[in-house]
Amino acid sequence: MKFAALLALILLPLTLPAALPPHSEAVPGGIAIIDLGPARGEAPVLHYRKQRVMVQQDQGRWKAVVGIPLSVQPGAQRLTPAKGAPLTFTVQAKDYATQHLTIKNKRKVNPNQQDMTRIRVERGRINAALEHWRETREVETRFILPVEGRLSSPFGLRRYFNEQPRKPHSGIDIAAAEGTPIRAPAAGRVIDTGDYFFNGNTVFLDHGQGLVTMYCHMSRIDVAPGQTVKQGEVIGAVGQTGRVTGPHLHWGVSLNDARVDPALFFEDLEGLLSRNEKL
Ligand SMILES: [Zn+2]
Repeated sequence: MKFAALLALILLPLTLPAALPPHSEAVPGGIAIIDLGPARGEAPVLHYRKQRVMVQQDQGRWKAVVGIPLSVQPGAQRLTPAKGAPLTFTVQAKDYATQHLTIKNKRKVNPNQQDMTRIRVERGRINAALEHWRETREVETRFILPVEGRLSSPFGLRRYFNEQPRKPHSGIDIAAAEGTPIRAPAAGRVIDTGDYFFNGNTVFLDHGQGLVTMYCHMSRIDVAPGQTVKQGEVIGAVGQTGRVTGPHLHWGVSLNDARVDPALFFEDLEGLLSRNEKL
């Protein structure tokens, strides 16, 4: 009995709840978690680059959870509270690898005039979904994998399509057979769905407080705007619609309108996906 009590005492510090995901990695495409002090009263309101920022209560303290765009230059960044002096945090440099892709459908790399008109309209709609802010007290940030597959392209790659430079990879690609179900990684609400020139069939899930996830190239969409989804609920299936080289899910995670690395929401995303190497 005495030994058990002693053991419990030793193990106690190890069983305290770990900090909530996401992990903090203050780099372009990463997330800065900034301690705002003891969690008393109302949650503080802060903005970063004109976007409202998520504030979570974690282990009795308020924490700002700030998405850092891939385009941000390393150095000091400013967080503006509704009251009081600005807060600063430092963004470190991160070197992302380069990737060269060959797209057979040349129009998907060099769209014509008519395509460009369509792309501009779609961009407005995509931006509106990604900028969405919904006031919620708590946000489910413990994600599950949206699809069983293998990691075919990581986040942040500097990409060349048919040898032409394009924007860096703003999500991760999970390769899986066409028709593989895609599940909501966390509870949320469907803000929009569409069929886009580059992204193909797409679903946007709003998890609250500026956390929005995006699912592209789907073969089918099983949800409709306004619908509430639970963690693990099927929202559609893997496909190869839009600009693709094969069936995969492009999964994007946006925080305060910054595209961030989905791996930051997992203990070991690469490990989870590498178990599926044979898929
Ligand atoms: Zn992708």
